[in-house]
Amino acid sequence: MSSTSLRHRIAIVFVGLLVLVMGLVLALVHSSSARIVERETQRELAVGAKVFQRLLEQNQRQLETAAGVLSADFAFREAIATQDQPTVRSVIRNHGQRIHAQVMMVTGTDGRMIAATQSTFAAGDPFPFPDLLAAAEAAGRSAGFRQMRNGQLFQVVLVPIMAPTRIAWVAMGFHVDDRWAHEMAGVTGLGVHIVRVGMPGLLASSGAAATDAGDARNASVGVPLDGGLQAVLQLPVAQVQAPFNQLQGRLLGVIAAAVLVFALGSVMLAGRIVRPLNDLSAAARRIALGDYAQPLPPAQGDEIGQLAGSFEQMRTGIASREERIVRLAYVDELTDLPNRTRFLEAFGRLTPGGGGAVIVVNIDRFALINNALGHLVGDRLLRAVAGQLRPLAPAGGMLARLWGDQFAFLLEGADLDAARRFADGVLAALRDPVTLDGQRLDIEAGLGIALYPDDGLDAATLLRRAELALAAAKRRHAGVAFASETGAEPAHEQLSLIGDMRRALLAGEFTLAYQPKLALAGGRIVAVEALLRWQHPERGSIAPARFIPFAEQTGFIREITPWVLETAVRQAAVWHAAGLDIAVSANLSTLDLLDPHLGRRVRNLLETHAVPARRLCLEITESALMDDPAQAQAHLDELAALGIKLSIDDYGVGQASLAYLKSLPVDELKLDRSFITAITESPRNAAIVESTIMLSHALGLTVVAEGVETQAELRWLREHGCDIAQGYGIARPMAATQLQGWLADFAARTTA
Ligand code: C2E
Ligand code: MG
Ligand code: MG
Repeated sequence: MSSTSLRHRIAIVFVGLLVLVMGLVLALVHSSSARIVERETQRELAVGAKVFQRLLEQNQRQLETAAGVLSADFAFREAIATQDQPTVRSVIRNHGQRIHAQVMMVTGTDGRMIAATQSTFAAGDPFPFPDLLAAAEAAGRSAGFRQMRNGQLFQVVLVPIMAPTRIAWVAMGFHVDDRWAHEMAGVTGLGVHIVRVGMPGLLASSGAAATDAGDARNASVGVPLDGGLQAVLQLPVAQVQAPFNQLQGRLLGVIAAAVLVFALGSVMLAGRIVRPLNDLSAAARRIALGDYAQPLPPAQGDEIGQLAGSFEQMRTGIASREERIVRLAYVDELTDLPNRTRFLEAFGRLTPGGGGAVIVVNIDRFALINNALGHLVGDRLLRAVAGQLRPLAPAGGMLARLWGDQFAFLLEGADLDAARRFADGVLAALRDPVTLDGQRLDIEAGLGIALYPDDGLDAATLLRRAELALAAAKRRHAGVAFASETGAEPAHEQLSLIGDMRRALLAGEFTLAYQPKLALAGGRIVAVEALLRWQHPERGSIAPARFIPFAEQTGFIREITPWVLETAVRQAAVWHAAGLDIAVSANLSTLDLLDPHLGRRVRNLLETHAVPARRLCLEITESALMDDPAQAQAHLDELAALGIKLSIDDYGVGQASLAYLKSLPVDELKLDRSFITAITESPRNAAIVESTIMLSHALGLTVVAEGVETQAELRWLREHGCDIAQGYGIARPMAATQLQGWLADFAARTTA
């Protein structure tokens, strides 16, 4: 838009200037040619008038000469002397014809006619122009323009005839008519018109006369003749103007052609100036949009070409700088892999609804290796791991190093099964040992998987969920864990949680709910499990899965567990005092199990509240045992020595073998809910549960089925020898105050 107008502006200025200059030239030519025409007209008129006068004089002299010849004729003189009229008449007729005089008259010195060629005159008549005669007598000859009685105009010349004295006058008349005027016009180049001054009408005219004053088409000059006559000489102005008009016409044509050529030329020139500018501005727009790839068209050597050259240098400069910046911003220097930023950005390419997975990989014991062998070895190990992982990077996906020993894969379009297969491939690839300086390092890794869109819709959430899953995988030594197994924990919620938890503990927002455990053989409630509940004043009730993992991570669990144990034991004392024969189970976390004061604290509680040790059961997850098996075992032994029961929670999710468990002083095995839920649907699961029950019994362990929801499951468990069942199918966790009422109801129901 602006470039077109620039182009037009250039052309308009050029052509405008040319038109202006040409207009001035034209005006100048016009005004000066008008002046020249004026001067030329006057000059031509003056010359014409002079020529006209010369002609008149010349005519007169010719006539005089002719008259002289006549008067020298002896026979003629004799005829006059003898008054021989016929001879005189015949001589003058011949003579007149010779000199083209229309009228010839011979007059005696007395003023009476002797003879005439005109029959209207008779001998003895007085001479018609006595004034001419008088002038001739005074001057020896005379001439003048005279009108005959019939109105015809003549130039009359009167000369004497000498023998040797003057014996007569001969008058010769030349008809001054249109033909005469025409001849005069032919010689002078002017229009010739004879008028009588002060009278209208033309006596003779060369044609097309305009006698009125102020006539613009003709310039005229008057030449006075005698006898009140005047010759009006006229020059048509157009005639003088014609060559100038022609000149101006040609000039106009030339100007028009020049303007046209110039306009075309300047449009082309403007185009040549503007096109490279257009190219430049298009390139600038591309650069503004971040496209540095396209080089500029080759430039000419002029200033615009130089500008284009500098611009091109700028483009390549920016391109290479941007490349460097992008590299710095997006590439991990150590491994040359994309970094976390690049990874988060690449996620944007996942097609919504298309599915996908984020897999976080973390090297086990990396910190240990780093500390033991030094950072240089650590760096080389990371490079080696990157080298092992790089070939696995899927097409359309990405492998990145997030930080430290944490890598991540982005899989496009992957579902749970595909992600699991991919994860197995990663584990298999990492199984190849790495050799650094001859040292063989066996690498093991944990993997956390979050699926799009199930576990989150944005890259940051998915990464966080995958990292939480990774933590869970590490806890359980499971190798691989899915985010869906670890529960949703939005990060922003977690941050405010830690402050909240401390406040909640003081404010009494935590309570325990108790879920009954049913002995399948006797149909009696033998125990309850204490489950933590948080009634948040603003957020309502928050499930333990939402805040316990966070409390474990931050260590705050060390403040929660004592409260849980104290509350549970105090409640056990209340029920014990009320004569209810039920045990109370409480859950422990990994950190609790590593707490060296745990045993002493539990013993104090039992003593303070006078609760028999067998009324308390502590539930421990497999992973809690795996983090530091030796320590765990020592503490478990200490607890077992107190006489309290120990239970393995969520059994089957991790990888602890029954053989290992056998070495621990545990009493109870709680089969994870996931096995129970599938029991009536999957014969394979049923077989696992069945053999687990059998093996547990062989090892002297009580088997508890968690998450029993249906009567079918209950029946199946009873038939297959499971000892205890717990689940919504029996009762949901309830407040302590509700338990006694519920127990009474339950007893009434089962005996009925
Ligand atoms: P858990 O120890 O395995 O507890 C059993 C969980 O299963 C409870 O969830 C319970 O409400 C739920 N449950 C019981 N029967 C059914 C059923 O039929 N169907 C289904 N779908 N779920 C059933 P809850 O109370 O949300 O606790 C979740 C987990 O939080 C517990 O799993 C335990 O690991 C942890 N937790 C709870 N209280 C404490 C605590 O005081 N200290 C520690 N360290 N962890 C606790
Ligand atoms: Mg439990
Ligand atoms: Mg459990």
